[in-house]
Amino acid sequence: MLIHRDIPGLRAALGAWRARGARIGLVPTMGALHDGHLSLVAAARAAADVVVASIFVNPTQFGPNEDLSRYPRDEAGDLAKLRAAGCDLAWLPTVEAMYPPGGATAVEVRGVSEGFEGAARPGHFRGVATVCTKLFLQTGADAAAFGEKDWQQLQVVRRAARDLDIPVRILPVPTVREADGLALSSRNRFLSPGERERAPLLHASLLRAAAAIAAGRDAAEALATGEDALRRGGLMPDYLALVEAETMRPLDRAAPGTAMRIVAAARLGTVRLLDNVAVP
Ligand code: AMP
Repeated sequence: MLIHRDIPGLRAALGAWRARGARIGLVPTMGALHDGHLSLVAAARAAADVVVASIFVNPTQFGPNEDLSRYPRDEAGDLAKLRAAGCDLAWLPTVEAMYPPGGATAVEVRGVSEGFEGAARPGHFRGVATVCTKLFLQTGADAAAFGEKDWQQLQVVRRAARDLDIPVRILPVPTVREADGLALSSRNRFLSPGERERAPLLHASLLRAAAAIAAGRDAAEALATGEDALRRGGLMPDYLALVEAETMRPLDRAAPGTAMRIVAAARLGTVRLLDNVAVP
């Protein structure tokens, strides 16, 4: 597995592969890798000939009140996991390589980025869309894998690529979960043992609300029941909402013929848990 930390090195390596006709699959990450990330590597591998995984803790997607310095980092462990997963190139740009001094350009995606995580974390999706656009342009990726775990992010990135005519195919990858339903996340390590026991309630509440809505129950009632269950279980819901899957437009009732998602965020101790499910 090659390792590159600056753009000229990355371009030279990718140029050699591309000259041989290889299609490039990209897996953008912030490191602290778990099996969810590795399933993105597998998806990229299935869609391309060479897999590039980036590890970059992107400062521009953290708000002023979010602790960038607390973000877990384990470069040696991550590289070993990527190597074992069959990744071909690890792209580990420095902050200076990613954001040269004097930088004045950003990617702003309106609409789909505005509610939910966008409302809770002002500027977050501007940072995400900007860094993902840069990663697409740096690598010239033919395909890029993103987790459905971060549903809104997936829609924001898809919208940005489409609007900017970036010829990258966005590959959505189903959420990888623990046996009890908790979505894998690098933040789960900050849960105390007691919190860890309560955490699967988020996924369980989402599934219950989705099943109720699919069975024709009133959506507002199903969502309110879900929020109550979260509170009773010691989780503080930020939102639990039915949305149009692609646009993130909130729906107050099921819309037949439209792909729908229930998205949720809830706080448990110091951790903000995110999850979502499809409405079947
Ligand atoms: P992160 O490093 O947390 O920014 O995530 C990098 C990528 O991994 C994003 O596309 C995430 O949606 C994806 N991801 C994170 N957790 C999971 C999971 N449990 N299952 C599938 N993909 C995930």
